[in-house]
Amino acid sequence: MQVDLGPEAEAFRGEISDWIAANRPAELAELVDWYAPLMAGSDRRTLAAAEAHPAYRTWEERLAEARLICPQWPEEVGGRGLGALEMAVFQEELYRAGVPRVTRGMGESLVGPSIIVHATAEQKAHFLPRIIDGTDRYCQGFSEPDHGSDLAGVDTRGVVDGDEVVITGQKVWTSGAMRANMMFVLCRTDPAAAKHRGLSYVLVPMADNHIEVRPIRQMGGASEFCEEFITGARAPLFNVIGGLGNGWRVAMTTLGNERGGRAAIAHLSYEREFWDLVEVARKHGRTRDPLIRQRLAWAYQQVELMRYAGLRLLATLANQREPGPEASISKLQWSEYHRRFGELAADIVGASMLAGEDVATGGGDGGDGGNTAGGGGGALGRWHEVLLLSRAGTIYSGTSEIQRNVIAERALGLPKDVQLG
Ligand SMILES: Cc1cc2nc3c(=O)[nH]c(=O)nc-3n(C[C@H](O)[C@H](O)[C@H](O)COP(=O)(O)OP(=O)(O)OC[C@H]3O[C@@H](n4cnc5c(N)ncnc54)[C@H](O)[C@@H]3O)c2cc1C
Repeated sequence: MQVDLGPEAEAFRGEISDWIAANRPAELAELVDWYAPLMAGSDRRTLAAAEAHPAYRTWEERLAEARLICPQWPEEVGGRGLGALEMAVFQEELYRAGVPRVTRGMGESLVGPSIIVHATAEQKAHFLPRIIDGTDRYCQGFSEPDHGSDLAGVDTRGVVDGDEVVITGQKVWTSGAMRANMMFVLCRTDPAAAKHRGLSYVLVPMADNHIEVRPIRQMGGASEFCEEFITGARAPLFNVIGGLGNGWRVAMTTLGNERGGRAAIAHLSYEREFWDLVEVARKHGRTRDPLIRQRLAWAYQQVELMRYAGLRLLATLANQREPGPEASISKLQWSEYHRRFGELAADIVGASMLAGEDVATGGGDGGDGGNTAGGGGGALGRWHEVLLLSRAGTIYSGTSEIQRNVIAERALGLPKDVQLG
């Protein structure tokens, strides 16, 4: 379904599709299905090989010249200042052309937006170009063994020593830490201050800096996240974003982007994945089973609801209004949907799933904005991975219970969560 997003968005669509047609290297679309699932380790290796191809490099350079890497960032910091509507159009046109959007992971989607809002002009000038050109690859050092949902309770200490902060503590569940050279760390620089007030948000270099990174093996078999033992890592005070003691505010900007970032396009990958499962159900002779049909119909409705929720969000943004608890509503919806979808896939494929007979046939990854739980060497078949790894979606970026609390308190105005114990 092509939705009319208004004359300005449609003019932009024409402009961007012409640009893509004129600039995409001929062989790029044929290298790999850029929009295929990204759950299995072999998929990641195929993708990595495609990204090493000269055609990808050429594409990356042309996008950079046209300021189409981090294009949603303001022009004065190296972006193109595209609004949410234009971003949705840009992504749809890339998808239509079968060519990839070159992204900068958490640097682009999480830490960059927080720097833009909270950093000084000097910090912006230093850190943002390094994200755009790929020099700095970030991972998120928020969670600790005893502080996940209760993020304001982080124990990792930051002690100011001259013009540096010295950081000691433990972080855990850090997605992509083994590929990152920078970590944005939430640490306690003022233990005497109230819980939320004593925190700072520090950009910490990871190489040769007393940070031991240990991979954690996930139930899918891969190790896509890590724990870090930090024993005196140093970062210049210049790397503290928002000032000492203001880390909570900066972290909230990061989390808002993490939860709401993909709401407007989430349905695209789920729709593809849904139709792949319908195909599998036909192959396994399950489309005549009334209960399976009923559950497939439910799944289709959910994907359509995501589409309309995304459009509502776009409309909000087009009217220059800030999204509120929509970010939590969207996160809750796609993550709970995907978990139940994984169970449906398992019921359709049956025990053969365990023997790996359901190997990928194409389809959506449930794209998770960099917090992926899969990949990196897992040996499971596709639907088995969806069953196991979709469960992570209801945990990262704030668990479902936490999203429900946010919706209850901020959208419905119900009384605040009662802390037990
Ligand atoms: C795949 C994956 C990738 C991740 N990547 C990162 C990353 O890159 N960086 C990072 O910092 N972290 C990351 N995390 C960690 C994630 O943010 C935390 O796991 C999450 O915030 C939950 O914290 P916790 O695990 O400590 O669980 P807890 O906070 O201990 O929660 C345990 C259970 O109690 C429930 N609960 C807690 N508080 C409440 C409450 N007030 N009301 C009702 N129920 C409550 C929770 O919903 C949950 O069911 C990742 C996690 C996963 C699964």
